[in-house]
Amino acid sequence: MPATIIDGRAIAARVRAQVAREVAELVRAGASAPGLATVLVGEDPASAVYVGGKQRACMEVGMTPFDERLPPDASHEQVAGRLHALNEDPAVSGILLQLPLPSHLDGPSLTGLIDPRKDVDGLTPVNAGLLSLGRPGLRPCTPSGVLELLASVDVKLEGAEAVVVGRSNLFGKPMAQLLIESSATVTVCHSRTRDLREVCSRADVLIAAVGRPRLIGRDHVKPGAVVIDVGMNRLTPEQAGTPSGLVGDVDFPAVGELARAITPVPGGVGPMTIAMLLRNTLQAARAQREDGNGNDDNGNDGNGNDDNGADLQSSGSIGEMA
Ligand code: NAP
Repeated sequence: MPATIIDGRAIAARVRAQVAREVAELVRAGASAPGLATVLVGEDPASAVYVGGKQRACMEVGMTPFDERLPPDASHEQVAGRLHALNEDPAVSGILLQLPLPSHLDGPSLTGLIDPRKDVDGLTPVNAGLLSLGRPGLRPCTPSGVLELLASVDVKLEGAEAVVVGRSNLFGKPMAQLLIESSATVTVCHSRTRDLREVCSRADVLIAAVGRPRLIGRDHVKPGAVVIDVGMNRLTPEQAGTPSGLVGDVDFPAVGELARAITPVPGGVGPMTIAMLLRNTLQAARAQREDGNGNDDNGNDGNGNDDNGADLQSSGSIGEMA
């Protein structure tokens, strides 16, 4: 029987609609709308498109966008100064530094300057540490979105064999941590894994985030597995066999014949990332408001939390997903 196709666009639309309702409630209760600042350094066209999408999504759910742009030759100090100003601005609930940065800038060290309570990408060392300790914090958007997709097809993660292909800080490592929190038995593969096929074919849940078109084929997949394709590879339309030229890391037609459920590319994981960014921004705004440091009328600086963000609720709350 062919696999259920997990419709990321529909699931993301539901998350966004829920965020919009909750933003409206917050505003009715007298708070300012949550604010999301995107920081774009340089003029990379793909990054500009991504930032534009985030700004639009933010407005659609009733949040206030702050579109911060710096020139391609901006110095570390200039970017750091802008991030510091946003950390201090009570109207800004969340900050996203668009990656990759121009090559003269160090992405991880600049990302690390974002106030962890406003780190809606979940990539600062504080939030990465909280995730690794299993404590509440802001969770990275794409892995949180994958948990939503798994929940949509009622995957029971407890005790399941989960294999993540890819060990990046952006996706593979936080994905593995979230799966561990959900009590899955987790294996992480990478370019040095000895027998990728054998390891992948043990998986009840197989998640590919590699950046290699159609690396995962039929032989990698156990019949009945749930397969999540995070990869986004741009080929020519002729190579891809699709007008967009976009393909994932999974050979979709072949794997779709034996998986229980599978995400398409495009229209699977991609739409979830922005939806989870909006959810994180709402969560950050609420936590700041409860602290009395956030974007309501208290006007404090947003840095008063001794616990470095540990009081934030988890965006990808595993309890809700399992
Ligand atoms: P990355 O930092 O380049 O990491 C790729 C990982 O794949 C590395 O851990 C690498 O291993 C591993 N790898 C490379 N070749 C392999 C092979 N032949 N067999 C097994 N593992 C292999 O990439 P990333 O940032 O995690 O992104 C991965 C993919 O997901 C990309 O296509 C990206 O565009 C996509 N992505 C999509 C979204 C979204 O919103 N849809 C978000 C994030 C990422 P080593 O560590 O040993 O080098």
